[in-house]
Order: sequence, then structure tokens, then C-alpha cells
Amino acid sequence: MNDNCHSEFDHPMERPRYVGIPTFFRAPYNENFSGVEVGIIGVPFDGGVTNRPGARHGPREVRNQSTLIRLKNQATGIAPHELCSVADIGDAWAPEPFELIGSHKSIQQTFERVVSNHIVPIAVGGDHSVTLPIFRALAQDGPIGMVHIDAHCDTGDDYMGSKFHHGAPFSRAVEEGLLDPQRTIQIGIRGSVNDLDLWKFSHDSGMRVMYMDEFHRLGIEATLKEIKHVVGNGPVYISFDIDSLDPAFAPGTGTPEIGGLTSLEAQLLIRGCSGLNIIGADMVEVSPPFDPSGNTAMVGANVLFELLCITAESVSNKRR
Ligand code: MN
Ligand code: MN
Repeated sequence: MNDNCHSEFDHPMERPRYVGIPTFFRAPYNENFSGVEVGIIGVPFDGGVTNRPGARHGPREVRNQSTLIRLKNQATGIAPHELCSVADIGDAWAPEPFELIGSHKSIQQTFERVVSNHIVPIAVGGDHSVTLPIFRALAQDGPIGMVHIDAHCDTGDDYMGSKFHHGAPFSRAVEEGLLDPQRTIQIGIRGSVNDLDLWKFSHDSGMRVMYMDEFHRLGIEATLKEIKHVVGNGPVYISFDIDSLDPAFAPGTGTPEIGGLTSLEAQLLIRGCSGLNIIGADMVEVSPPFDPSGNTAMVGANVLFELLCITAESVSNKRR
């Protein structure tokens, strides 16, 4: 790409934001990964959904909606593109999309390249099954901690004959030694179940499960204290499922559950994770076919911006 592609940052008002090819936040597109510190990467795969599909179309729509977003975070003052080199590093796509285990392998291989280039990834799904292959690439030095914001714990068991699906990435991640359950907190859990022991794995393995009722009772500040208490100073990944939000804000997703977070609560939760030792993040499960107004992708892009801000801050602090 030529120098013109970087001019958005030097002269952000030069061109209207609806002009040109939509990369994430109008950042430079860099598929060869050179000189990138924080890489935003699409994972257009939804072969792991248990119900409504479509999240494979998520990254492209989030790219489109993300062009609405300006350079700096007015609430926190963070200017991620000034703190470090941010790029859209393309898609971790599966050349064999009809085959789930092989697709996860392909996604893992792309993220291994990301890690070997010392890029901190922020992934855009895709369904939540893709976080497992991301962990396989990221957790090479031992199990990592996680802040997981979702309507579901995603620590299920086999479903319809498969161990791998978007309802089970985190049980598999613990079994594979990638995720430290003692340093995992899951926030926003709710909805009807067929079995009240559905999230037994989370409880038995020692994850901190904060159901939506408890979050509502505690509020943001106490929840942030709990997050810091659980994940500590060690390496941590932030996984944000858009279905953590109430369908009033984000209807375009595979398994919506009412009684969820507001978009402001999601912003405050992520902003409050500032100061954690962030080694990666994702925002998953935006399903454009169920999102006729584009609102879910727009909300997802704004959640992604908050993730970008605290990740860029963490990367820049570690450099000092
Ligand atoms: Mn999920
Ligand atoms: Mn979910």
C-alpha cells in the first residue's frame, strides 16, 4: 500500500469517512504484518454455530461500520493510533470452510504467524468457536487468563456429535492447558437452559461466573474490582460476545438473550479493564443477515474501538 493510505491519521478530515475501501477504523491494510504492533484481524468463519448462522459475514460489516469511528476516545483521552502502530491485517480465513477441525487449524496457523511477528491481535468473528484456535496460537508460554463478556459461559460439552462448537471453546481451552480457569471471569450469563447444570464445567473448574442478576446488583465499579481481583497482573485475553448485549442494542446475532448489557455498560466495562496485561482480544458473533439495520455491526465496531484503546495502551505501556 502506498503512503496515501496512512494519510487518514495525518489528515483525518481530508476525506469524508464514507470514501474509499473500508478497513477497520480506516487503518492501513497490511497483510504482510510488517511493522505492526496491534493487528485487527477478521475471522470470517461460522461453521461452529448451534443455531442461527451468518457470523462469517461479521468482519466485513464491522469494517464498514467502523469507518464511522474517529481517531480518539473522548471519554478516556486514549488515541490508539498515536500510541502504537495499528493496522487492519486482513482475514484469518479457512480454505476448507466445510470442515470445522481443518478450519480451526487454518485459523490457528494464521494466528501463529501473528504471534511470531510480535503482533497483539484483536480478532473480529466469526462465531465464538474461533477463540479456541486463537488461544492455541497465543498461549504458547502456558495458560492465560480471560475476561469473558457473554450471555453464555461457552463451557459446554459435546453437542450433536462434535466437541468443537461455539458453545464449548472454553472447556476445550482448559482441557488443552491454554486457559487458566482460576484467572477467568465470565460476565453477563443469563437465559433459559435445558439443564440447570449447563455451565457445570465453569463452576467445577473454578471460573468466576457472574450471572446477569449479580452484575445488575453489583454495578460497574464492583464488577471491575472483581475482574482485577480474578485476573491479576498476568497475561489476559478479553473475549467479547456481542450477545452479551441486550437484543435491543444488538439483535443481529446467533443466540440472542434478553435482559442483557446496555451498550454503555459494555463500554464502561471495557474501559475499566485499562491497566490489565492484555495479550489479545476479540469481538465475536455479529451476524449481518440478522441485522437488517446494521446496528449490531455498528455497536460491535464501537465495542471493538474500546478494545483497541485499552490494548494499544497496554502495548505502549509495556514498551516503556
Ligand atoms: Mn459466546
Ligand atoms: Mn453467547
